[in-house]
This record gives sequence, C-alpha cells and structure tokens, in this order.
Amino acid sequence: MTMKQNLIGGQWTEGVRTYQNTNPSDTRDVIGDYAVASREQALEAVAAAHAAFPAWSLSTPQQRFDILDAVGNEIITRKAELSDLLAREEGKTLPEAIGEVGRAAAIFKFFAGEALRPGGEVLPSVRPGVGVEITREPLGVIGLITPWNFPIAIPAWKIAPALAYGNTVVFKPAEVVPGSAWALADILHRAGLPAGAFNLVMGRGSEVGAVLLEDERIAGVSFTGSVGTGQRVAAACVGRGAKVQLEMGGKNPFVVLDDADLNVAVGAAINSGFFSTGQRCTASSRVIVTEGIHDRFVAAMIEKMKTLKVDDARKAGTDIGPVVDDRQLAQDLEYIAIGQKEGAKLHGGEALATNADGAPGFYLRPALFTETTPEMRINREEIFGPVVSIQRVKGYDEALALANDTPFGLASGIATTSLKHATHFKRHAQAGMVMVNLPTAGVDYHVPFGGRKGSSYGSREQGRYAAEFYTTVKTAYIQT
Ligand code: ADP
Repeated sequence: MTMKQNLIGGQWTEGVRTYQNTNPSDTRDVIGDYAVASREQALEAVAAAHAAFPAWSLSTPQQRFDILDAVGNEIITRKAELSDLLAREEGKTLPEAIGEVGRAAAIFKFFAGEALRPGGEVLPSVRPGVGVEITREPLGVIGLITPWNFPIAIPAWKIAPALAYGNTVVFKPAEVVPGSAWALADILHRAGLPAGAFNLVMGRGSEVGAVLLEDERIAGVSFTGSVGTGQRVAAACVGRGAKVQLEMGGKNPFVVLDDADLNVAVGAAINSGFFSTGQRCTASSRVIVTEGIHDRFVAAMIEKMKTLKVDDARKAGTDIGPVVDDRQLAQDLEYIAIGQKEGAKLHGGEALATNADGAPGFYLRPALFTETTPEMRINREEIFGPVVSIQRVKGYDEALALANDTPFGLASGIATTSLKHATHFKRHAQAGMVMVNLPTAGVDYHVPFGGRKGSSYGSREQGRYAAEFYTTVKTAYIQT
C-alpha cells in the first residue's frame, strides 16, 4: 500500500509520521496510510503559498475558470469512486456520500463561473472631475482548517472560492478523514495549478493547524469545527490582525405546530436529527412540539425510528451509518447517560458492537428523548450524534421563545401549514438559516451558509457571499 503524501510547493512530500485511515463501519478495514506533516513542513507550505501568491493573484479569470471547471469535471467523472471512499472513511451512507461528492463538484463549477464575474462598481465622486472605482482583490495566503463530517464538501466550499478570487491556499483537513482530502488535492494538483498555489498539510490541529493561525504570512483563516477550537482560532487570528471566518456548533431547533402535516413534520425531524448519524452542524437536536400534536408526533417518530436500518455505510438499504470514531461514540453515549440522569425518557440509543454481518464498528441506534425540559444539558449542549430530544410546549409563542433560547444560531426549522406562523417564524427565528416544512439540514450550494450567536463568526460562506471573506475591497479615485 503506497503512502499518500502531503502536497507542499507542488511536490508530493513525505511526512514525519503515518496516520492509518480506518473504516468506522468495519474497524478491521484499513483504507490507507497518510503522511502526517510536521510544524516545519507546515511552515514550508506557508512559504510556498506566499511565494505563489503574486503570480496567482494576477492570473486571468480564464485560467482560474479552466482549472476550477476541470476539478469539477473530474469529481463528476469519478463520483462513484470518491463517494465510496467518503462513505468508507467517514461512515455516512453511500447515497449521502454521493450527494456530498456531487455538491463538491457543483461548488467547483459555481466558483469557476464566479472567477469570470468579479464585477465592481463605478461611481461619480462627490468632487468634480473625479471618478471612483470599487473593486475586489484577493486577500493573500488563506489557511483552511476543516472538520471530519463533510470530508469533501467543506474543503470544496473553502478551496474553490479561495482560488477563484486569486488567493493561494494551505489546507489542513481533519485528521480522521485524510482520504477525501488527499483525493481532492490530487485532482487540484493535476488540474494545472502553479506550484504552491494549493498546498495540503495533513496532521494534528495543535501542530499543523496552529501554524496557520500564527504565521504572519497567512492573511485569513477559514475554520469549521468545534466551538472550543473556533474560539482559539479567533483569538489567535484577531490578535495578529488576520481575517477570520468560523463555522462552529449548533443546537438547532425544529418546531412542530398543531396544524403541521404530520408526515412532513416526522420526515423532516427524522432526517434532520438522525441522517448522517446526526453528525451535521445543521442537524436539529431539539424538537419543540405544541401540545395538540405532541403525542401523535412522538408515537409516529418512535414508529419511524423502528424502521431505520443502522448498518454498514456502503450497504444498500442502510439508513444510518456508524458514528465516525470511538471518541465521538463515547461522547454520544455520555450524553445519552446524562439525559437519563436528568430524568428524560429514552427511546432507542443502544450502542451495537457489530453490524448485521458481524463486522465491528461504531454503531449506535438513533436515540429519542421525550419529556425533556429546556435547562437539561441534552437541550443546551451540542452532542453531534443521532440524539434528539423533544420538548412539549403550549403554543407558538412558547415554541418560538424556546427555539431562540440557545447560545447557538445556525439553523432553525418549523413545520406548520399556517402562513401567519411560518412568516412570523422566518422573521423572528434567531438563526442564519430558516427552514419551513423542510429539514434544517440539507442546504443549497449557491446561497449563503452560516449562522448567528455562538454558531458562526465573520462573514458568510458559499454563493456570491463567499467573496466577502476571500477578497478585500479597494476604492480607487481617478482625476480625469
Ligand atoms: P472535532 O472535535 O469535531 O474534531 P475540532 O474543532 O477539534 O472539532 O477540529 C476541527 C479542525 O480543527 C480539525 O481539522 C482539527 O485538526 C483542527 N484543530 C484542532 N485543534 C486545533 C488548534 N489548536 N489549532 C488549529 N486547528 C486545530
């Protein structure tokens, strides 16, 4: 088995250690060995990106379009293989992985187009004979730090705009999913990028990631991950005046009103809470249900949960794959125990040592807590697993107040057939994204993504709004 190396200054480079990538659906299955970069190698990658910036920042829109479009095309051509790798290393089901890989391709295509449409504004000055032009220019070297739950889509939605707007990149993926990151780096490398414009450094956050926060040559850091790490990233970057963008946790509410279509409500709650094994920052883990529909809704949720197949991520018919690793499984089980201790009633939530074929993996049946109250830790802290709690409320006003009663603000959903309540909720939900009669998870790739309060910091990602982070504005005055 050949070792997959880091990409530094256009050269595939050995690491100082090896990371063995394994399959959470069958821990006996070794996917491959990946090079772990040292601090010094991360510094070399920063130097390479810094050296490559002047030329790449002046590349033509056509050059950038051609490369990003070629990356999108190759991802589409190799969709089956890349989806299989993603499901194998991360544990989401194959249909979910296919969706994610398709999204990554679409993102590269979208930003290929954006490279051709930089735009700008021309305004008259307030002074006679003077013109004003407002343009956007690339920031410089961008450090990208990504989590494990979307191993190709999150890297894509950071790398594609960074390169499209003329920045160079040092990319540090999450340690447990190096396979998809390496495959994407290989595609980028062969698509014709100049040496150093894109660098891959796999390794630990505290070593490789820390370099990206501290090095003066990095002009901006885009981070997706946990709240604790995000706060460290922000402190380090703000401290030295670097631009920073954070996407962190969520404790997303999903409100179900008496007038909701029961099938729509249950479908959206099951999807948002349990699909992708609950490992999405947009997952809804707090379902807030008005009392007229509460008992019917709970009964329907429990019935539906019984039909969900928890099994190997790549097996046809699997609804829910394994948890990503032993550390995350331990965290999920700890919260399930906390919920029981807090007095909530648990349905499901059993850990399974093996799947239906006897393969050892990190399997967990979806867990639903009923009879929960707002102050319980399971209703306040992000669990990041297939664990959902239900809170009963009297009516819409109480539901809205509870939905907003959280330190987070990424996504917020409601199931209702009332235009009045849907419209009010859209306006008053304290979240960056609001969904009506839809799961809170599952968003489009061409529109802004991000949240408020403790969920996000800095400008939005994706769509045209990505330009806010990956460019800096120049105002030019011309006397004619
Ligand atoms: P999770 O708990 O979901 O793994 P983390 O926030 O720890 O979330 O990880 C998200 C990303 O941040 C990963 O790529 C990780 O390696 C990186 N990371 C972790 N600690 C640091 C750090 N101190 N500095 C920079 N990056 C870090």
